[in-house]
Amino acid sequence: MNWLTNKVLPKIRKLTTAKDTPDNLWLKCPSCGQMLFHSDLAANLQVCGHCNHHMRLGPKERFDMLFDDKSYDIIELPDVQADPLKFRDSKKYTDRLRDARNKTSDKDAMVVAHGKMGGNGAVVGVQNFNFMGGSLGMAVGEAIVAASKLAILQKAPLILFTSAGGARMQEGILSLMQMPRTTVAVQRLKEARLPFIVVLTDPTTGGVTASYAMLGDIQIAEPGALICFAGPRVIEETIREKLPDGFQRAEFLLEKGMLDMVVNRGEMKETLTRIVDLIANKKKAEVEIKEALEEAVPEEEAETLPAETSPEENQS
Ligand SMILES: [Zn+2]
Repeated sequence: MNWLTNKVLPKIRKLTTAKDTPDNLWLKCPSCGQMLFHSDLAANLQVCGHCNHHMRLGPKERFDMLFDDKSYDIIELPDVQADPLKFRDSKKYTDRLRDARNKTSDKDAMVVAHGKMGGNGAVVGVQNFNFMGGSLGMAVGEAIVAASKLAILQKAPLILFTSAGGARMQEGILSLMQMPRTTVAVQRLKEARLPFIVVLTDPTTGGVTASYAMLGDIQIAEPGALICFAGPRVIEETIREKLPDGFQRAEFLLEKGMLDMVVNRGEMKETLTRIVDLIANKKKAEVEIKEALEEAVPEEEAETLPAETSPEENQS
């Protein structure tokens, strides 16, 4: 019996358990309930092939999807004071931060990278919902300021992918101060006449919607993304009325004029690359026209100069 239980049984168990790992192979679509292969999902950029539900994406997956040849540089972001309020709810804020850092291997909820898109330079920031609900705290504020500065330095457009439950309440007023702060960062871009493109992904809510997420020169969203300040449940409870279907979803907001376009993830790179190229070439065209005009001006002036300096007049 000993030989059976100690040697043979573990070997049999090893054989059966090694193959039965359905959790790692399948994922149930939260929208339509269809079982999806992880490999299929990855090939389809984490979009359900049955109902077009767009799953949430992390910064690195976005960067890989966007930049030419998956080649980009992630920038080092400034450190911020950790837990300035010594905040604690059911858990310490410092513990929540540590857990989120271990889970995502990022420093905070926004990662910024720069690289080429269709040959044109671009700065891209991605907010990670997996990091404490993507919440806007001091670190995210710093990230957006840094991204804006880098875009100005490189004379490149800034593209921000937003995703957040709102401001980071564990930082109290300091998190709310990031709303005007990021608004100023966006304003600097506009003063430098550089485009600011926002891609709203599911969900973009609260203080993020109330600041930089709504300030884009071009406002894009992914299909089905929830975009709001207060969520539909809160509104229904407050006004005691049933809200229309699809209220606060990307398609509804597009219809009401809040968005410029709703773009499928599969077409996101192409769409953004085209926009960046149009803008970059428009600037190039403007520069060319300006240079051509400057060259043309002395000739015009020559024609109107007094007779003694005109070569034609001297000849006659
Ligand atoms: Zn689905």
